[in-house]
Amino acid sequence: MAEEIDLQPLTHITTDAIGSPGKRVFYVQGWQGNRTITLIVEKIQIQSLAVGLEQFLAEVEQKFPDLPEASADFLEDKMHIQPPVDPLFRVGELGLGYDAERDLVVLVTRELLAEEQEPEEGRVVRFWCTRSQIRAMCHWGMEVASRGRAICPQCGEPMDPAGHFCPKRNGHKH
Ligand SMILES: [Zn+2]
Repeated sequence: MAEEIDLQPLTHITTDAIGSPGKRVFYVQGWQGNRTITLIVEKIQIQSLAVGLEQFLAEVEQKFPDLPEASADFLEDKMHIQPPVDPLFRVGELGLGYDAERDLVVLVTRELLAEEQEPEEGRVVRFWCTRSQIRAMCHWGMEVASRGRAICPQCGEPMDPAGHFCPKRNGHKH
C-alpha cells in the first residue's frame, strides 16, 4: 500500500509560485502545526481547482443553507510558502470532497506516476480544510497564477522578460 497522509487538523494551506516568469514552479503547501507537506502542481491545476471550488462550495451551501458563507479573505504575507521547499511528489490529480458532519472540505491530491508504475503505488495526501481556508487559498492562487508574464497587447502571447519576438510584428523585438 502506498503512503497516505491526512493533514487534520490543518493549520494553514496555501499555494505559491517560485522562479522567474515563464519558468515558475507552482506548489501547494499545508501546515499541521510546525509540520509542512509541500507538493508540486501545475498552474492549470490551481486555476481549475479555483474554478471548481466555487461551484463545489455553491452546491454545499445550497444543500446546507444554514452554513455561514466561506470567507475568501487572506493576508498576502501569510500566503507565501515557507522553506524547506522539499516537495513530497508532483500532483497528478486533485479532487474535492465534503464532510458535512465536521463542515470540512478535503482536498485530495494524488501523485503523478510514471508510465511503468502501478496505480496503487501512488501516494495520496488529504488536506482537511475549512471552507474559508480553501477558498482563501484558491483566491490567492488565482492571483499568483495571473501574476505571471505580462501579455503582449499585439499578439496576446505572454512576453518573456528577456524580450518578446512578436509574431504579429514579424518577430521584431519589442
Ligand atoms: Zn506579441
